[in-house]
Amino acid sequence: MKLIGSIKKPRWYNIPCCCIKGNIEKSHPIGNCKHCKFQQAEDSLPKKDFKISDNIIDIKTGKIIKKQTRIVKEVTIVRGSVYQDVIGWSY
Ligand SMILES: [Zn+2]
Repeated sequence: MKLIGSIKKPRWYNIPCCCIKGNIEKSHPIGNCKHCKFQQAEDSLPKKDFKISDNIIDIKTGKIIKKQTRIVKEVTIVRGSVYQDVIGWSY
């Protein structure tokens, strides 16, 4: 899996975790901890190639004419401009 838009050290890496262990209201995801929130987003990036199916559908009948699968080998990361956090990815 190739990740386009990888950054070695995005800005948010310097934000420390402010979760208070044992206090659910002051811990991610209820508490407002930017570090854990951004970490979770980064962890959601695919680590391996994956298969997707593209079905070609007849517009008139709504039936599937052709089924095809392809392997996604690279994704493009979409980052926030302030924290350089992962806000999404596309293939
Ligand atoms: Zn945290």
